Amino acid sequence: MAQAQKITPRAKDFSEWYGDVIAQAQLADYSPVRGCMVIRPHGYRIWELMQRALDDMFRASGHRNAYFPLFIPMSFLAREAEHVEGFAKEVALVTHTRLRATGKEGKDAIEVDPSSALEEPLVVRPTSETIIYAMFAKWIQSYRDLPLKLNQWANVVRWELRTRLFLRTTEFLWQEGHTAHTDEADAESEARLILEIYRDFAETWMAMPVLTGVKTESEKFAGALRTYAIEALMQDNKALQAGTSHNLGQNFAKAFTVQYQTAAGGLEYVWNTSWGVSTRLIGGLIMTHSDDNGLVAPPKLAPVQVAIVPIWKTDQEKQQVSGVGSQVQADLEKAGLRVELDLRDTMKPGAKYFEWEALGVPVRLEIGPRDVASGQAVLARRGGGKGPVSLHGVTASVTKALDEIQAALFAAARERREQNSIRGVTKAQFIEFIKGPGGFAYGGFCGSPSCEAEIKQQTNATIRVLPDPEFRSKEAPRNCMWCGAPSVAEAVWAQAY
Ligand SMILES: [Zn+2]
Repeated sequence: MAQAQKITPRAKDFSEWYGDVIAQAQLADYSPVRGCMVIRPHGYRIWELMQRALDDMFRASGHRNAYFPLFIPMSFLAREAEHVEGFAKEVALVTHTRLRATGKEGKDAIEVDPSSALEEPLVVRPTSETIIYAMFAKWIQSYRDLPLKLNQWANVVRWELRTRLFLRTTEFLWQEGHTAHTDEADAESEARLILEIYRDFAETWMAMPVLTGVKTESEKFAGALRTYAIEALMQDNKALQAGTSHNLGQNFAKAFTVQYQTAAGGLEYVWNTSWGVSTRLIGGLIMTHSDDNGLVAPPKLAPVQVAIVPIWKTDQEKQQVSGVGSQVQADLEKAGLRVELDLRDTMKPGAKYFEWEALGVPVRLEIGPRDVASGQAVLARRGGGKGPVSLHGVTASVTKALDEIQAALFAAARERREQNSIRGVTKAQFIEFIKGPGGFAYGGFCGSPSCEAEIKQQTNATIRVLPDPEFRSKEAPRNCMWCGAPSVAEAVWAQAY
């Protein structure tokens, strides 16, 4: 049976489809620990490519990497009131440090050694603001130490009840940036700069168009002054929050006494920002581009960009097409491309094609004896389209195809988002839209948290962002689309992951 036939079509069951794409592309698997995921090599390679691109962007904008510990004293979490409330319900605690043998058999052979109880339990970090700002308090003395701009690549744990591979798992990988500044304006421009970096990464590398904007009070990060976010629309018309950047104000600086001496000799609290993107981005990549044949990976982040599949019947033909295939591989690798040469003789070419498709490889080069004789290969694109290319100019042809595929994926995703957005909604239109096809609904918002809560309760839709000017409708809405009170801002609603 062909590999592709094992994938549930999107139209039948999107959630099943998502799981099938991940399984077929060997991206991740469930672990023996409920809610935790194992990221398999093909999936981890995507993460490594994402990391590399983002890390270069952070470095180019003046950030440096550091590493802080996994464990945080429980009391640290209590110091910032909103923060503790936001995370209290999902932390894992370390309370003991030893097990002991009981002399019994099986699962009773070991037990917790009660004498090893910690005086103060440790929290497994759900995020690292508290421990990082405790260290900032030591390192920052004067205005000359500012701005301090750090990032760490780490794992975090949030005890989730309902989990889904990449989108919501108990442990996940991410980067978290943490900065300290002399004043609000500097912190604000940092939070904004990072939002732009995230947008650039999402659009240029992932080919995933995003809206940018600010979160409402009820959707912002626990302990932040303001939260900015990038939001993408998945193929099932649900929104995915793909990255957040927070202006933390002086909340944490006050909780952890992070102060600096000003040029004039006074003492001031610093202003902090924090920001992060996680392995959730891989879920976003899958749900933005993939199809019923499996993963579609944008070329810039594809673990394998080109699969070369030689075709032969006899040993002599095999020798010939393999030789040409190796040469093509060497040429493409010299140009910096990620290439696999498929010489397995246990599989027919058709089965290989299905497999490379399910793995999301953007370009396949088929080389048979007749192709070699006429100095060509057949270039097949993951999204469809197939034609001969000359072996002489194969690197240029492949590079061009990859660039075109990257651009086409972005254009298609943006067009789909716009087709599934509705502007200037009334309450009736909104309900019909959200309970029907779904997507991004733009409308007026009165600013009232109780109105926002009522909408969420009745429709399961939340305000994804109050969009930045670039995304706002030409005419500003006058009234709240739900309650009719005067509108204070245009909002974008959607059901979200
Ligand atoms: Zn309202």
